[in-house]
Amino acid sequence: MFDLTGKVALVTGGNGGIGLGMARGLAQAGAAVAIAARNRAKAEAALKELRAYGGKATFMELDVLDEASCRGAVAKTIAGFGRLDILVNNSGTTVRKPPEALTADEWRLVVETNLTGAFFCSQAAYPEMVRAGGGKIINIGSMMSLFGAPYAAPYAASKGGIVQMTRALATSWAKDNIQVNAVLPGWIDTDLTRGAREQVAGLHERVLARSPSGRWGRPEDFEGIAVFLATPASDFVTGTAIPIDGGYSILV
Ligand code: NDP
Repeated sequence: MFDLTGKVALVTGGNGGIGLGMARGLAQAGAAVAIAARNRAKAEAALKELRAYGGKATFMELDVLDEASCRGAVAKTIAGFGRLDILVNNSGTTVRKPPEALTADEWRLVVETNLTGAFFCSQAAYPEMVRAGGGKIINIGSMMSLFGAPYAAPYAASKGGIVQMTRALATSWAKDNIQVNAVLPGWIDTDLTRGAREQVAGLHERVLARSPSGRWGRPEDFEGIAVFLATPASDFVTGTAIPIDGGYSILV
């Protein structure tokens, strides 16, 4: 039920942070994993880790802001591994500013990276999953899919959009045996949130105070949910948005 032997996964932004955490879970379950992002140097270290589990892993350059690059990453996965069963849309970015100070380019950068890029990658993956007889798409939302913050208008818009896009794709592609789900990470210690801790005064303490788990999350907290949502264990689960947040979203 939790075996991914013979399956192939493409993880965008899989060269670090939460994406690498998910890639580790998939590799341990037996999948061949393609990680796709811009920073090749970061990917080299990630590949070493993934190959240590004994399976195949490769890196491909991807800029999710470019539709052709999204299609290219899927095409290269097929060229290298022959099929595509699992897509993790994890690439993401943010610009922390009050809404009145945002430029048009900053708005577009965040929304197009987090939401539009995930759509293009999903669209590119669809015919390959149909060819494979089914598939699994895992989109990465956020606590900002549920809550707001004064410095996060485009980020919250994009992550709210991820939840609704997940539902829409799940309804469209259920007929093709493709399950589409979202994961909503809480506050996880990665490069992205190291910046937030420096820029947002008191954030670190607020997260600890509100989290029943009493800690920040870690990329390895995403290994299990990646395996669940990528394997037959979740074949009747689609269109959901699952918080992986140590209880952050259930404490008032
Ligand atoms: P990281 O900064 O470690 O990961 C972001 C990843 O996205 C990097 O691997 C980066 O790779 C990739 N990326 C960014 N822009 C592009 C682009 N244009 N094209 C392709 N890849 C790109 O942070 P996290 O691991 O924290 O973030 C991963 C996901 O989790 C994001 O979607 C984020 O919004 C989400 N998330 C994180 C939370 C947290 O607390 N950390 C909470 C909620 C959600 P490269 O620079 O090499 O291209």
